Amino acid sequence: MSTTLATVSYLGAIILFILSLGGLSNPETSRRGNLYGIIGMTIAVLATVFGPQVTAAGYGWIVGSLAVGAAIGLYAARTVKMTQMPELVALMHSLVGLAAVLVGYANYIDPAAAGQFSGAEKTIHEIEIYIGILIGAVTFSGSIIAFGKLSGKITGKPVLLPARHWINLVGLVVVIWFGGVFIHTHSAAEGMTPLVVMTVIALLFGIHMVMAIGGADMPVVVSMLNSYSGWAAAATGFMLSNDLLIVTGALVGSSGAILSYIMCKAMNRHFIAVIAGGFGTEGGAPAATAGAQPAGEVSPISAPDTAELLHEAKNVIIVPGYGMAVAQAQHTVYEITRLLREKGVNVRFGIHPVAGRMPGHMNVLLAEAKVPYDIVQEMDELNDDFPQTDVAMVIGANDIVNPAAQDDPTSPIAGMPVLEVWKAKTSIVMKRSMASGYAGVDNPLFYKENNRMLFGDAKKMLDEVLAALKG
Ligand code: NDP
Repeated sequence: MSTTLATVSYLGAIILFILSLGGLSNPETSRRGNLYGIIGMTIAVLATVFGPQVTAAGYGWIVGSLAVGAAIGLYAARTVKMTQMPELVALMHSLVGLAAVLVGYANYIDPAAAGQFSGAEKTIHEIEIYIGILIGAVTFSGSIIAFGKLSGKITGKPVLLPARHWINLVGLVVVIWFGGVFIHTHSAAEGMTPLVVMTVIALLFGIHMVMAIGGADMPVVVSMLNSYSGWAAAATGFMLSNDLLIVTGALVGSSGAILSYIMCKAMNRHFIAVIAGGFGTEGGAPAATAGAQPAGEVSPISAPDTAELLHEAKNVIIVPGYGMAVAQAQHTVYEITRLLREKGVNVRFGIHPVAGRMPGHMNVLLAEAKVPYDIVQEMDELNDDFPQTDVAMVIGANDIVNPAAQDDPTSPIAGMPVLEVWKAKTSIVMKRSMASGYAGVDNPLFYKENNRMLFGDAKKMLDEVLAALKG
């Protein structure tokens, strides 16, 4: 393939990626968005493999790697459950980071690549390598820790070292200093020492940064690592002089950064405060909320009584959370919604921006169950409507409906906007036990006079509610 054809193909792929992002911003156009992404990526891979930079000798390696990568991808796509998606995404971000590190080292020690540049160009190329490896290493180790936290393999609580800000600052100074040393070296052998030192510090920094973040701040970290992975890819593009990778990386990097901003706003948190870590802690002490003990008495309710309340209601708001994803209850939720709407009940869904374990988690599940988009509303759109609501049905949600965020300034989630379900005539919370949610904070909603607890697996209980409604 000629260079011109490769460039044109890259341009086509870039346009398709932009259209893909545009499509993914709305549930109704998201399928089309995905399709654009698939076509764009296919063109990008073909244009790269058959492009001018790959020689015939490389085809064996490419086919071999494609086979291994595709097999792992297919296996993961078939076996990973919806609730494990956030972990899988974190793991994939780590691979982007690792790739940036490996490409950086390969590029640095490759005599052919090094021979291309001299003078100022050589310095710029070395800065690209240094920064690329730096971002890649932070992304790699940070994403591995995020994977561990999201999958419960590592404690979700913040792990705070004493003088952690100083440790980070010293790390940063050392990295900058070694950067100066690196660009003044004269051979690959000489440059290796500062490069390796920086990589080790970057890896430790990634671990330290994500370990210090806990509880309800994790969504910001997940989207931030998403952004980092984009910048790591863009840095790889600079190292390889690949325009497509630069643009695609920048698209992912900036969309991830925008998402982090949206998440911060949704949580009423400052980005710097999140990055500095230590969710729910004062003065660097470990979270006092861990294993919070339930306080007060709760009023349980049965599935038939829940059905009765729903049947008599005029306005119902359903608030889904992580538990709905665990129970895979979305299809039953849809059936109940359909039945109630047929009976003339006004049913809507209230979606908190950080409900579940990944951005858009609830929207994906509800769309999969074919819940009409127009009754799925954002928190801000319907939060004022709870006082006129007869039943607010909370399905496997906890942190996102915690009134302590508003009432208790000492609460670790103080200031986080929440869905005000307790303002409805009756709220019903479906969960299996009195256990706390992801943030590890007790929830005073459960003890409110107008709240009822429907204990049990969300799918099982909703099946019973559906049966009672039909009966
Ligand atoms: P929570 O984690 O606060 O609560 C989920 C509740 O679901 C639990 O209390 C659990 O209680 C219940 N549950 C679990 N399994 C079932 C089941 N099978 N049937 C019924 N109930 C079940 O979830 P929310 O959605 O309310 O809030 C999301 C939290 O996750 C926030 O703290 C957010 O910051 C964090 N987070 C969000 C991310 C995102 O991008 N959206 C990413 C990372 C973290 P029980 O065990 O008693 O059943």
